Amino acid sequence: MPSLVYKGGDTVILDFNVINKSAVPIKNICAKLCERTHFHARNQHTPCKEFTFHTCPLGYFGQEYTCRKIGSVCTKRVDIPPYSTQSVTLAVVIPETVKTPSFESGLITHGYLFELGVQAQGSWFAQYMTAKIYIGDKKGDEDEDEPKVTMKEMLLQNAPPPAYTP
Ligand SMILES: [Zn+2]
Repeated sequence: MPSLVYKGGDTVILDFNVINKSAVPIKNICAKLCERTHFHARNQHTPCKEFTFHTCPLGYFGQEYTCRKIGSVCTKRVDIPPYSTQSVTLAVVIPETVKTPSFESGLITHGYLFELGVQAQGSWFAQYMTAKIYIGDKKGDEDEDEPKVTMKEMLLQNAPPPAYTP
């Protein structure tokens, strides 16, 4: 993936490097765009950055998680023989309707992910892995006017006062 941040209408070029270690050919590669939301029953001072159950400070009854597919599954037919490696690219267009930017608050955490899959010959289902992406503006785009402090300056600002010399 060339970037982790996208907007509705963007085309994402996904580079698959498929290492087929199985005895059957790989017949399809696919990608699904999904949106997921994590809800809290009461406001939290620290928003959840992750969507997993165990990283949330609230218990089972205090949190909720939803995930749904956006648009259709993007699939490309391939033929990757057993015990071989092949690079494949898949272009996925993020629908214009995807307008809600990724955000975190004390009540709701909202985000996006790609489910990237390979389907072997004779298999009904694809095996998926997930890749987190963000919808919205890249950080730094909007605060271009703010003075930038380099790491060196920051270190200098935090540096201890010079040693006392009588
Ligand atoms: Zn949470």
